[in-house]
Amino acid sequence: MARINGNFRKLAAGYLFPEVARRAASFQKEQPNVKLHKLGIGNTTEPLPPSIIEALHAKVDALSHAATYSGYGDEQGSTALREALSGYYRSINVQIQSDEFFISDGAKADAANLQQLFTEDCTVAIQNPAYPVYVDSNVVAGRTGSYNDLIGGYRNLVYLDGREEDGFFPKPPKEKVDLIYLCSPNNPTGAVATFDQLRSFVDYARAHKAVIIYDAAYAEYISDPNLPKTIYQIPGADECAIEINSFSKFAGFTGVRLGWTIVPHRLLAEDSQPDELHKFWFRRQCTFFNGASNIAQAGGLAVLSEGGLAECRAVIAYYMENARIIREGLKRSGLTVFGGDNAPYLWVKTPKRMRSWDFFDLLLRQCHVITTPGSGFGSCGEGYIRISAFGHREAIAEAVASIEHTLAKALEVLHE
Ligand SMILES: *Cc1c(COP(=O)(O)O)cnc(C)c1O
Repeated sequence: MARINGNFRKLAAGYLFPEVARRAASFQKEQPNVKLHKLGIGNTTEPLPPSIIEALHAKVDALSHAATYSGYGDEQGSTALREALSGYYRSINVQIQSDEFFISDGAKADAANLQQLFTEDCTVAIQNPAYPVYVDSNVVAGRTGSYNDLIGGYRNLVYLDGREEDGFFPKPPKEKVDLIYLCSPNNPTGAVATFDQLRSFVDYARAHKAVIIYDAAYAEYISDPNLPKTIYQIPGADECAIEINSFSKFAGFTGVRLGWTIVPHRLLAEDSQPDELHKFWFRRQCTFFNGASNIAQAGGLAVLSEGGLAECRAVIAYYMENARIIREGLKRSGLTVFGGDNAPYLWVKTPKRMRSWDFFDLLLRQCHVITTPGSGFGSCGEGYIRISAFGHREAIAEAVASIEHTLAKALEVLHE
């Protein structure tokens, strides 16, 4: 008799994005002539730069000849790509050996899978608000109790609250935890950890033999030289941190699919032998994964070339100009805006202490703009909405103009 994994039943009802889509569709049905503007989705919109396209084409052509065809590659990823990644880290003075990189088909699956390295009874701490995969993968693995509506979170999970006064990046936990998930620049808040903030987590992890899973998917959006782009810029992090990263937001590979995870040789858990976590992740990937697409990896190699990097950074600059336009427009509308300086997300405080979903509905129905309610990312997101800077410039400008023209009136009506 097969028995179902009942942990799936614990998952908090309704995933955030389908509910956003449902409300938008329902409004559009009521008002079919209204044009809705999208500032909600964390998805890239601009085409891949020419040198990346050229490399992808060249790899496809190579597959069409017997002499240059290739089938399965190394489970850990192509040596050339891992060496290029090692060089990419070296350019910011961080030494990672090429065999410490594990190429994958994206950071999200790695974020979900890494918990398999650790026991079922370990205590998990998660940044609040956060990208949903860290929580949900641990719920399904059975590390949490049920969802508690009163606290707006799962029992037995330690939530690390990101507060406005700390720049929305949390402090290390007071109690002893075993696994810690951090994301910087953070999705949804756009907050970036400072060197001191990251150092406090590395110190905590080394003192408690905890392991940090650090999601740096937006590292390339950091332009401030005083902010760390990788956790390995903190001395000692290679003993206590796994870093996941991705070509998705870095190079527009959201659909192409390519990411990487660093499991250092020096990484230790409380009871692990030296190098054991690295070996176990290698073993896991060899059995459960057959490698990332060779076409995508050829594209990734082109991204890391000098020309490719410059082209990808120009696309990032385009999105960051969108972020600036959004921030200026929202400020002119009287809103309080955080993030968007070193991340493609803006974290907007709701006016008049409105709840996230109420402000979402007001922006949808009165301003015709789709956003994402902050409360969908955790209890600390209540009272905020997330606005994404991904989008074509014209569409972004239209959305911002729509808010500028209609918000004041809509809020007045609300007050009456
Ligand atoms: C978009 C995103 C990723 C990227 O995931 P992929 O599977 O590589 O596309 C990872 N982490 C965060 C926080 C993200 O927002």
